[in-house]
Amino acid sequence: MHINDAVFLEDLCPKFRFRQWRKSIHRFTGKSCIYCGKPSESIDHVLPRSQGGLSITENCVPACLSCNGDKSDENALYWYRRQKFYDPRRAMAIRAWLEGDLRLAIRLLQWANPKFKANNKIYEKGDSKYEAA
Ligand SMILES: [Zn+2]
Repeated sequence: MHINDAVFLEDLCPKFRFRQWRKSIHRFTGKSCIYCGKPSESIDHVLPRSQGGLSITENCVPACLSCNGDKSDENALYWYRRQKFYDPRRAMAIRAWLEGDLRLAIRLLQWANPKFKANNKIYEKGDSKYEAA
């Protein structure tokens, strides 16, 4: 019984951590696709796994199923350049993301998508004396 329990927990924990990690990826972009801005429903490997891409934050971006499926095993930046919804600010954001500069990536995404500014409301109300500590 004890042995079975131990195996079970060992199986469970990596899955749990993986799920938390996936959630955190989606949270970075406010659950929107890094390519087109629609709701993100999946995690896309920028450098496909088939080409040695790793499942690490720097290589994994939130994407909608449409973008993820359409891109398939292609290099994300090449694929993205050909899309109707191509936005150079998003392209820069993807590049920053790949370099591990998530702060810059998120700023660029905010620039590309004004709706995404929701988090900056406090900052935008310049006349307010209250500050987010
Ligand atoms: Zn998309």
